[in-house]
Amino acid sequence: MNWYTTSETPGVKTQPLAEWSLKQWTLCPKCQTPALKSQWASALNVCGSCQYHAPLSAQSRLAMLCDQIIHPIRSDLQPKDFLKFFDTQPYSERLKIAAAKNKSSEAIEVVYASIAQVPLVCAAFDFGFIGGSMGAVVGERFVQGVQFACQNNLPFLCVATSGGARMQEGVLSLMQMARTSAALAQFSQKRLPYLVVLASPCMGGVSASLASLGDLTIAEPGALIGFTGPKVIEQTVGKKLPKDFQTSESLKQQGFCDAIVHRHDLKQYLARFLHRWA
Ligand SMILES: [Zn+2]
Repeated sequence: MNWYTTSETPGVKTQPLAEWSLKQWTLCPKCQTPALKSQWASALNVCGSCQYHAPLSAQSRLAMLCDQIIHPIRSDLQPKDFLKFFDTQPYSERLKIAAAKNKSSEAIEVVYASIAQVPLVCAAFDFGFIGGSMGAVVGERFVQGVQFACQNNLPFLCVATSGGARMQEGVLSLMQMARTSAALAQFSQKRLPYLVVLASPCMGGVSASLASLGDLTIAEPGALIGFTGPKVIEQTVGKKLPKDFQTSESLKQQGFCDAIVHRHDLKQYLARFLHRWA
């Protein structure tokens, strides 16, 4: 028996082969360090090597932040192909594929929940669902969540990650910028806190409306936050942009966000704020 042919080394406990199968592994999209998928998930999609914060689904985000989800708000509202839009494939087909691929039924989930025993309304965007884009149903769920918070004197928290407005819904998606902003203006009259967490990427119509109106704006480290992508701006102005352009770090320097908080510390940070407010 030699080193090559032996299947088990006496005295050494080997792990089952399945765990070592390639399917169990993933690579960090930034530094390419391999990690077991189970470890990656338990670290909330944060790379242990370079601390890159990878996108998180709306369901995982709510599970990570909320200690109790009391009930969803308007999860019965389902996206619809209002304009019978067609590009490389019909929009209705895109919706079916996105719904089959994700646990969420739209690019936002809104729930009545509690964080550290403080009740609130929590909304989380899902970048996996058509790039977290804001269509009519995303806007409607958000507005009804804000109204529920208004009626019940609750704080409102939104975790925003999105490519912007959903172009397949044309003007119906663009008007959600005004609708969500108007709902938040009414909310601010109640003097209740609106908290925003900016996760990467947060761009376009979402960053230009509901994501920029927080009383407290927190960003995850290294998040890409802006309106138009840096490549388009570079081509338009014909200049090389600074390395940290549109990152949460540069936005904090310019006063756009109040704090940069690591995903693992986020719940504790929000809990501290909510307890001081309550
Ligand atoms: Zn990494």
